[in-house]
Amino acid sequence: MNASVANAGPVLPPGMVMTVAAVTGLERDGSGFVHVRLEADAFAHAQPSGAAPVFKLFIPQEKGAHPPLPSFDAKYLPSWGDQKPPTVRSYTAVGFTPGSTVVAFTAVDRGAEHWWLDRCAVGDQLGFIGFRHEVVVPPSVSTVVAVGDVSAFGAVAALSRQDRDDVNVHAVLPTGSQWPEGLSMQRPQRVSTVAAGSTGFPRGSWADISGTAAVTESDCVLWLGGELAAVAALHADAVAAGLDPSRIFTQPYWRKGRTRDEFDGEMSILYQGALAAGEDISDRVTATRIELSAALCTSNTEEGQY
Ligand SMILES: Cc1cc2nc3c(=O)[nH]c(=O)nc-3n(C[C@H](O)[C@H](O)[C@H](O)COP(=O)(O)OP(=O)(O)OC[C@H]3O[C@@H](n4cnc5c(N)ncnc54)[C@H](O)[C@@H]3O)c2cc1C
Repeated sequence: MNASVANAGPVLPPGMVMTVAAVTGLERDGSGFVHVRLEADAFAHAQPSGAAPVFKLFIPQEKGAHPPLPSFDAKYLPSWGDQKPPTVRSYTAVGFTPGSTVVAFTAVDRGAEHWWLDRCAVGDQLGFIGFRHEVVVPPSVSTVVAVGDVSAFGAVAALSRQDRDDVNVHAVLPTGSQWPEGLSMQRPQRVSTVAAGSTGFPRGSWADISGTAAVTESDCVLWLGGELAAVAALHADAVAAGLDPSRIFTQPYWRKGRTRDEFDGEMSILYQGALAAGEDISDRVTATRIELSAALCTSNTEEGQY
């Protein structure tokens, strides 16, 4: 743990690390993605428990500033004390090897103004906490159906790196999208393309998608990464069709009309409410239900038009 942690909190769960990492690689490819390499000695202690491990970055508000790290309360809710809170963004490690001091990720470059990665350069430092949200495939299951928008391509590549040789990934990706240059799947995988809705997430019901992937509810897990309303709709459809919620790994990556900071603020209120109601927010299915309930808040008039 790094000395700049605000104050002592609970010990992080085994295999999880929080540290300051150096940006040691940052390459823009010709296909609209940025490939970033981070290095920190502490990464050698990170132990992902499954595929596609996720981490958060703490990005200082001022370029070149030392990244702050939070402290946590007993429920692992972060606090910044007297420090200026950083920008916080989540990404997915691609090809992390336990024991390695390198974490790499691929971010989609949407050409947004004032994008944090446009202000970032090799040599900068970022706060890091990870890993979480690893995908562990039950022994009876041999297919991961992964449905995502372009920002999920790094995660789809990471999902293809399964410990078990008999697990295949069937990726369902938006028609017409370009796969990032230099981002490889570990083994030959199946890929289908489906026309996207307005948020870039493949359109279609669970019946369409499971038919395309030729899976049934009993022999697959479903992974979803994309805009909140889009993933919430497909999640609800799959549950209604009989897929056990524990078989669905849902990542509401972003919310239309909100920055991730704003979306995280909404999530924080939902989590506080769930804690006050005595819910176990460490349970993955409960956490998913809490996060997807944000889709029911309809203050954005464009919600639902995915
Ligand atoms: C667990 C997890 C893992 C993730 N892994 C990855 C990853 O490996 N690679 C990756 O590229 N992204 C990943 N994401 C998604 C990424 O964190 C979000 O897209 C984040 O909002 C990007 O921050 P930003 O600074 O680009 O945009 P923000 O400042 O958060 O948002 C600015 C505007 O852009 C919109 N916006 C945000 N993201 C998108 C998008 N993807 N498409 C269209 N509009 C968008 C927002 O609604 C807002 O209006 C992950 C998210 C989560 C929760």
